[in-house]
Amino acid sequence: MSLVDPREEIARVSKLLYLRRLITAAGGNVSVRASEDTFWITPSGPHKGVLSPSDIVLMSTSGEVIESTGRRPSSEWRMHAAVYKVRGDVRAIVHIHGPTSTTLGTLSGVLRPLSEEGLIYLGGAVRCIPWRRAGTWELAEAVADALRGADVVIIERHGSVALGPTLNIAAARAEALEEAAELYAWAVGSPRRDWRSVLWL
Ligand code: 13P
Ligand code: ZN
Repeated sequence: MSLVDPREEIARVSKLLYLRRLITAAGGNVSVRASEDTFWITPSGPHKGVLSPSDIVLMSTSGEVIESTGRRPSSEWRMHAAVYKVRGDVRAIVHIHGPTSTTLGTLSGVLRPLSEEGLIYLGGAVRCIPWRRAGTWELAEAVADALRGADVVIIERHGSVALGPTLNIAAARAEALEEAAELYAWAVGSPRRDWRSVLWL
């Protein structure tokens, strides 16, 4: 169990993800499980790079706000709730809008790691699921279904979702995905025609 206040942890990690350009002022969200059916989540509205611990909202997986200083929970709360329901082992969820992973995932349908770190953190090739409207139960259910057997998934034309037993690990997976996409982009642009042979899978 973490001794750090999850609200502080979420505000700190959101800032790091913003500075790494994995989330934007308005795009992406972060949550940490509080109990079997409650979680802390970033608010909808405030700039994601400058959140305070008091901006973070506590809510239930059924959609009830339990604690908030007047902030609305992320519009993707359904996605976080649906994932916590199917993955009892997961303690944290990071939803990013990584530019390279979103573009390459959308165009190729799957992202394959090239680096050893990518293989370790992503566990293998990362799938891209078909687009569904942001904030809907349709998207939430499709993401939760894809994450029954994986820790990372890309959403077509939108972003991706990474899970972990801690927030730091979920964030590391999200960053590993974006890095894998950047390396993949370099490989695609290489003059070597056999560039696919350097991918792990
Ligand atoms: P929120 O700001 O409501 O969390 O939404 C951002 C987002 O990424 C929607 O998919
Ligand atoms: Zn999003």
